[in-house]
Amino acid sequence: MFIENLLSPAIILLKPLLEITMQRWLTHFLMIGLICGGMSLSETLHAAEKVKILMVTQSAGFVHGSVNRKEKTLSPSEIAMTQLAQQTGEFEVHCTQDSAADFTKENLQNYDLVMFYTTGNLPIAEEDLEYFFNEWLPTKGHGVIGIHSATDTFHEYEPFWDMIGGTFNGHPWTSNGKVTLSVNDTKNPMMKSFGEEYVIQDEIYQYKNWQPEKVRVLLSINMAKSKVKRPYMVPVAWIKDYGEGRVYVNNLGHREETWSNPDFLKSIQEGIKWTSGQIEADATPNPEVSAELEAKAKKDTKAAAE
Ligand SMILES: [Zn+2]
Repeated sequence: MFIENLLSPAIILLKPLLEITMQRWLTHFLMIGLICGGMSLSETLHAAEKVKILMVTQSAGFVHGSVNRKEKTLSPSEIAMTQLAQQTGEFEVHCTQDSAADFTKENLQNYDLVMFYTTGNLPIAEEDLEYFFNEWLPTKGHGVIGIHSATDTFHEYEPFWDMIGGTFNGHPWTSNGKVTLSVNDTKNPMMKSFGEEYVIQDEIYQYKNWQPEKVRVLLSINMAKSKVKRPYMVPVAWIKDYGEGRVYVNNLGHREETWSNPDFLKSIQEGIKWTSGQIEADATPNPEVSAELEAKAKKDTKAAAE
């Protein structure tokens, strides 16, 4: 009223227009408020929901180029995971090569997943290992992703090989050659990027302590299409439940080039979602698939020898 009385009739005429403008401004501010508020809220929620990964790339045995921190920078696999975290915004990864300091009961509280790309007997305190296997890993939302030489770690320590699914027992398929892999569970989200069959140049392990009744095989060597043949099945990726926790193992990742392979990285990205409990997948052990692959490998190896 005060302003209207003071101002000229011209302004009074403009009043409806001003009111509309004011309303628009108000709406505009409210919308900006909502969008910004929404964004920051969702960002906050997203940050809170982000899966936290402890990536352990310590080598107490053979040191792979993919985990080698040359010039004190992160190694190729650590750089790849850090970039994947930034690109997807789905997880955070902290890299360590000091498991004595970082693989402790106290520090594990900060993480949802542990990723192993390790070798040998890591210098982890026994009580921390016991806590990890008996309490941390069997907890819902917790999981392990085992990459390549994860199975070349703690050979004589049964809780480890029982958890990871098998122990390194040589690699007849060297990193110089290509291998043809068969996807044994095409419905599994971690296998989608590999299609039904996948050709890759990388080093492939064979295993002892392999327990087909405890794992679901997802990927294996197609022995018929492999130059190097062996009369037994050779798994390349598998999953298993561990209490209420989850384990995903993928043999690939020896070569540095594999860490810039989008199909491999996509499989890890999906593996993070599955092991942390964000997505579901059938993890029912499939020993019948292992048995079929075993019989096929025997047949394929025999046929090649004839
Ligand atoms: Zn290797």
